[in-house]
Amino acid sequence: MLTMNSFSFAGKKALVRVDLNVPQDANGKVTDDTRARAIVPTVNKILKDGGSAILMSHLGRPKGKVNPAMSLKPIAEHLSGLLGKPVLFAKDCIGPDARAKAALLKPGEVLVLENLRFHPEEEAGDEGFAKSLAYLGDVYVNDAFGTAHRAHASTTIVAKFFPNAKLFGYLMQAEIDSVGKVLGSPQRPMTAIVGGSKVSSKIEVLENLIGSCDELIIGGGMANTFVKAQGGQTGASLVEEDLLDTARGIIEKAKAKGVKLHIPTDAVVADAFAENANTDQCAADAVPDGWMALDIGPKSIEAFRTAILRSKTLLWNGPMGVFEMKPFQQGTVAIAQAVADATSKGAFSLVGGGDSVAAVNQFGLADKISYVSTGGGAMLEYLEGKVLPGIAAVRD
Ligand code: AMP
Repeated sequence: MLTMNSFSFAGKKALVRVDLNVPQDANGKVTDDTRARAIVPTVNKILKDGGSAILMSHLGRPKGKVNPAMSLKPIAEHLSGLLGKPVLFAKDCIGPDARAKAALLKPGEVLVLENLRFHPEEEAGDEGFAKSLAYLGDVYVNDAFGTAHRAHASTTIVAKFFPNAKLFGYLMQAEIDSVGKVLGSPQRPMTAIVGGSKVSSKIEVLENLIGSCDELIIGGGMANTFVKAQGGQTGASLVEEDLLDTARGIIEKAKAKGVKLHIPTDAVVADAFAENANTDQCAADAVPDGWMALDIGPKSIEAFRTAILRSKTLLWNGPMGVFEMKPFQQGTVAIAQAVADATSKGAFSLVGGGDSVAAVNQFGLADKISYVSTGGGAMLEYLEGKVLPGIAAVRD
């Protein structure tokens, strides 16, 4: 298997799938360039070797049609600033302009192709379209973890045209290595912290993690379903009635596998789902009628923190409460802090999945975590134990 460090890009045109799907304001200005910054090491290595880079990405959801509001041109300009050099732009990702610009590309130069999803063939995983993309480069690099769970033309199908010249970029490799440290052969004890709104979106994650972790902490809205499944009174909390049996099954499975399961014992409750609601604290299994649990309480925080601090490996996906509203933020802040503290004591920590990543960024703790994943949906599927097609296509 080729790696970034061992491969020389000298004289090669690298076709690189990147994730330039950055958020923009109404005027197209980039509001958060985390994803663009994340690909810079890969691009720089290619250029430093004496190669050139042809970058392809999607932006937004143009649904297979050209939509000028979703052009990658302004993002290419932003990237030019990050790389500190001019960046060429092709007005389509395939066709004469892309072919001509790719053909003329010289070592040290960067070409950004227009939004892949202007063509319906991208998301359809069309082989002919993938072949047209492949025609542009000599070697394929996949550095787009965020779309690795999609078998699209540029993320997966294109790899077959580079049987002996395909590799992961630095970002992709870092994501793969981090998950490996957690799910491969983790330092024990390994504790997984899973939160977020619903059990339904995390069933497979929970099932998969029970197979590998020593302790499992459940928080967030999904914890209510577990509390109710054990006979608790959950008031007006978010509960998935149809998943009470599933929750019981997970509790049983944890018991059978010797996994220590932590479910909140107390909660911050509110009389409305609102920032200015009346709030109180109570036992997690005694939420009064009409009240809802919107955060974990102080006793749960203490118990979860103790478990986190004795762990050598930590995985965190999903907030402990409605952290977007200040009165229900404390649980998520405390867990983020505990994960950061355990990391400073030597544990390896991976935070993955949209909202927990947003939380560690919001609380200014991202640099105290061993690895903060860049892929929401992709990370979730990875944690479910699925083989991501974008990874398999390069590896196989
Ligand atoms: P997810 O996308 O499944 O990871 O869920 C994240 C969302 O769960 C966030 O927007 C939180 O506000 C929400 N959430 C967390 N705890 C609760 C709760 N106790 N009740 C309702 N929603 C919650």
